[in-house]
Amino acid sequence: MMKSEYEALKKQISYHSHKYYVLDNPEITDEEYDKLMRTLLEIESAHPDWVSADSPSQKIGGTILKGFEQVVHEVKMQSLQDAFSFDELADFDKRVRSTLTSPPRYCVEHKIDGLSVSLEYRDGLFTRGSTRGDGEVGEDVTENLKTVMSIPLRLNTTLPYLEVRGEVFMPKASFARLNAEREQNGEPTFANPRNAAAGSLRQLDSSVAAKRGLDIYVFNIQRIEGKEISSHSEGLKFLRDAGFKVIPGERTFDNIDDAIAEVEAIGSLRTSLSFDIDGAVIKVDSLAQREALGSTAKTPRWAIAFKYPAEKKKTKIRSITVQVGRTGVLTPNAEFDTVTLAGTFVSRATLHNMDYIKERDIRIGDTVTVYKAGDIIPEVLSVSSEERDGSEVEFVMPTSCPACGAPVQRDEGEAAFRCTGADCPAQLERSITHFVSRDAMDIEGMGPSIVAQLLEKGHIKNSADIYYLDRETIASMDKMGEKSADNLLSAIEKSKSNDLSRLIYALGIRHIGLGAAKLLCKKLKNIEAFFTASSDTLTSIDDIGEVMAQSVISYFAQSHVRDIIDRFKEAGVNTLYIEDEAEGNALDGMTIVLTGTLPTMGRKEAAELIEKNGGKVTGSVSKKTSLVVAGEEAGSKLDKANALGIPVTDEEGLLKLINA
Ligand code: AMP
Repeated sequence: MMKSEYEALKKQISYHSHKYYVLDNPEITDEEYDKLMRTLLEIESAHPDWVSADSPSQKIGGTILKGFEQVVHEVKMQSLQDAFSFDELADFDKRVRSTLTSPPRYCVEHKIDGLSVSLEYRDGLFTRGSTRGDGEVGEDVTENLKTVMSIPLRLNTTLPYLEVRGEVFMPKASFARLNAEREQNGEPTFANPRNAAAGSLRQLDSSVAAKRGLDIYVFNIQRIEGKEISSHSEGLKFLRDAGFKVIPGERTFDNIDDAIAEVEAIGSLRTSLSFDIDGAVIKVDSLAQREALGSTAKTPRWAIAFKYPAEKKKTKIRSITVQVGRTGVLTPNAEFDTVTLAGTFVSRATLHNMDYIKERDIRIGDTVTVYKAGDIIPEVLSVSSEERDGSEVEFVMPTSCPACGAPVQRDEGEAAFRCTGADCPAQLERSITHFVSRDAMDIEGMGPSIVAQLLEKGHIKNSADIYYLDRETIASMDKMGEKSADNLLSAIEKSKSNDLSRLIYALGIRHIGLGAAKLLCKKLKNIEAFFTASSDTLTSIDDIGEVMAQSVISYFAQSHVRDIIDRFKEAGVNTLYIEDEAEGNALDGMTIVLTGTLPTMGRKEAAELIEKNGGKVTGSVSKKTSLVVAGEEAGSKLDKANALGIPVTDEEGLLKLINA
């Protein structure tokens, strides 16, 4: 075997793979394709040194990572302004025309419901792929993206640099297959294709991602070197020729009415597509006009996304059940015949409270229309009262708690009915689940089933008891190995040093969310002050109103709260307010670029530190850059800084500057 034959085989396979996965128009049978692939793998195992980054064998995956590196997006990955009515689209057109000096042309595209990623190519070779993250910093998921069959590892063109943006998604068929498989194996299923795609892209073992059947539609050129492009549609054509799988069937129009008609047409066909869309996007086609229109902080002014109304289904309510929340509130739920909504099975929706049921006159046995709010949360939209036959039954709130039997009370002026039981197990279970949750004390590994077991077996009676659990007790829980017991113990230990605001929030005081907890702690400084604070003191804090203040006062007036807080203290749980890291102005007015790997700080951490001290972080080096902070394996940015004569320092230098 000559290396040239191997190279030819690689080209041949890439050609057929493009035909199959990108163009959906194969020239050879699957068997023939598999045979070529087998031959390639045989050659590669005999000549491992021949294997290159663009070999089709790289699509199989197998790299195992410890975590994902951060990627700073040189070109921000922006979001889109939303529209929910055609009028809003017409208004968008007016705004665009009022800024431009010549009339716009619009390009209309499907809005794919997946995850936005950036793909970078150097000299035609795929070198890096990352998630959108917060638009400025994402995660390096190159290894997983390599396994997506429709992402070319090498382009049909060589440009020094090309960055494109696309949407990775899981086709409906792959999603159904994956969930069926997971159900068989007793694994949790994914709620929708988008979540499944997100989970797959974040696999540390890329061979797992490779099996998930992910796909991509590329929809934008972020940055290009070595070619001039003047319009979006021209860019999409260029991308198609380069070998990308580009958003399907975009069309351009000279006026907004035709563009809106296209949006409508896409919407009417949306359920027949093999992938999920959550809207259509109208974009100004000319890149010069885009430039003239510019962007707001988050979204470009030259594009708008129309979101289609949620899918609705009719079904019949079989019963209304009641759930007891952590504050004792009884929430009624409608249990209805299963329907599929936005790709998942749904058989229950919250009815919120008694007023909600009364206003809509929802009865057991009613035929109702259900939908998913924000495509996520099932809700009852309306009742078809004309379909009643007289057998429907009005719902009444139970007078005693379904969990503990204590009387149920309705507070004056409130919609909620509440269980009055002091030791209601349902309340307790939910309040402890809240206590350990991520935003509260963040005790990882203490999921709802562990909480339920600990309560049931009497190992805990309140949240403070968590800090007195021993290893043996924890390890004796179902599905708890020695290892996870140790992990849980160290998570409990770690939570002891949380800031006081987490503890206050975790206590579950009515009306006190995380934000309010922070404001209170900033003022009161330690937990003892909560016992003595007056209403005046509390309401003197900005954003703390009368209702919140009263809630805090009556919470700390309860006698058992004193005991619980003492037990927290005894266990060593922090009850002091921890001042946020000091902010300074040492870097005021400086524009700083980070490059390479810093010895101790992550990119995001360094960027935050710089911003806290008054500096600004940008992605690329220019004459305006004041300083470049370079770590190990700093690349072209360092070269550019040197070429332009911009000062360069390292992490230590940066810290000195800040502390000076
Ligand atoms: P949203 O997340 O609702 O603000 O919508 C913006 C997101 O839509 C972007 O982050 C992209 O990930 C996604 N998207 C899907 N298809 C397109 C498209 N054709 N053009 C622009 N964005 C798209």
